[in-house]
Amino acid sequence: AISSPLRPIQALPDHLISQIAAGEVVERPSAVVKELLENALDAGASSITIRLEEGGVKRIAIADNGRGIPQDQLPLAVERHATSKITSLEELENVATLGFRGEALASIASVALLTLTTRTADAAHAWQIENGKITPASGAQGTTVDVQDLYYNTPARRKFLKSDQTEFGHCAEVVRRIALARPDVAFSLSHNGKTVDHWMVTPIAKRSASILGEAFANARLALDESAGPLRLHGYIGLPTASKGRADAQFFYVNGRFVRDKLLTHAVRAAYQDVLHGDRYPSYVIALDLDPALVDVNVHPSKIEVRFRDSRAVHQFVFHAVHRALAQTSATAFGTTPA
Ligand code: ADP
Ligand code: MG
Repeated sequence: AISSPLRPIQALPDHLISQIAAGEVVERPSAVVKELLENALDAGASSITIRLEEGGVKRIAIADNGRGIPQDQLPLAVERHATSKITSLEELENVATLGFRGEALASIASVALLTLTTRTADAAHAWQIENGKITPASGAQGTTVDVQDLYYNTPARRKFLKSDQTEFGHCAEVVRRIALARPDVAFSLSHNGKTVDHWMVTPIAKRSASILGEAFANARLALDESAGPLRLHGYIGLPTASKGRADAQFFYVNGRFVRDKLLTHAVRAAYQDVLHGDRYPSYVIALDLDPALVDVNVHPSKIEVRFRDSRAVHQFVFHAVHRALAQTSATAFGTTPA
C-alpha cells in the first residue's frame, strides 16, 4: 500500500465545505432547476418563468412573483444552513414547505455565478445580490435567480454531463413534475430563447391532459379516497393508457414528487389483475397526510420518503387504486381475468 505522510487534522475552510456540499445540489442542471422552483413555490408564487441556455449549463434563470426577500435578509439567503422555513426540530418534523435545509442557494453560489434580484410588496424598489454585494435594482415584486456558468470552477464535474439536449430534457422533466402538482401556478419554460412549454393556471384535469397527453385524458379514472389521516387523489390510467415504459408515473407526497419503492409497488400490485407483462400504468397520484407521519429528510434531494406506518400506507394506496380499477373493469370491461 502507498503510505502517505502523516498530515495534521485541519478544519476545512468555509468555501471548500460549500463546494463539497454543493455536489448533490448541483449534480446536474436539473437539480438546480428543482431547487429554484421549490423556492419559488415556497415563496407563494402564482407564476414562474424558467429560462435555460445550453441545457442549463450556461444559464438557468428562474423568475417568480412570490413574496420576495427583504433587503436586510439577502446576505443570509445565500448563506449555508440559513433558512426562513424551520427553526426547531419540532418544525422540521412537521415541515410543510418543499425546502428546509438552507443549502441550495449557498451551494449554487459556491460553484456558479449567482445573481439574485428580489422585491417585497412593501419595498420601494428591488435589490440585487451578487458575490455578496447588494445594490439597488429594478423589478416587480418577486424574485429572479440567475445562475450562470454552473461548472466554471468545477470543470471535472462538467465532464460528467451529457449533451445540452439531454440536460435540457432532464430540466424539462423536473418542470413537468412540478407543474403537474401545481395546476394553480402558471409556468413557462424556454430553452435558448425559444418557448418550449407554457401552462396557464388551470384545473388539474386540464393540466394533466396537457402534460400526459390526450390518450391519458381519454382513458383515466378519477381517484379520491380518504382513510383517517390519509387522502389519495388524482388520476389513474386505464389499462388502455398503459405504456411500454414507466415514464408517465407521477406520485406526490404532500405536494412533493417522489419515487418511492413502497408506493410504486402498491400501485403496481393494484394493477396486477388488469395489466400484464411489460406494460406500465400511467398515473398522477397525490397522497396527502399529516407531515408528522412522513419523514422527508431521508435524502438531500428529498425524492425518497419514509412513512411512520409504511404498512398502512401501502395497504391504503393498494386498496384505493385496486377498488377504482375493479369498479370499471366490472362495469365497462366485463369481468377481469383471475
Ligand atoms: P431553503 O429553501 O432550504 O430554506 P435555500 O438556500 O433554497 O434554502 O433558500 C434560502 C432562503 O432564501 C429561503 O429559506 C428563503 O427564505 C429565501 N428564498 C430563496 N429563494 C426564494 C424565492 N424565490 N423567493 C423568496 N425567498 C426565497
Ligand atoms: Mg430551497
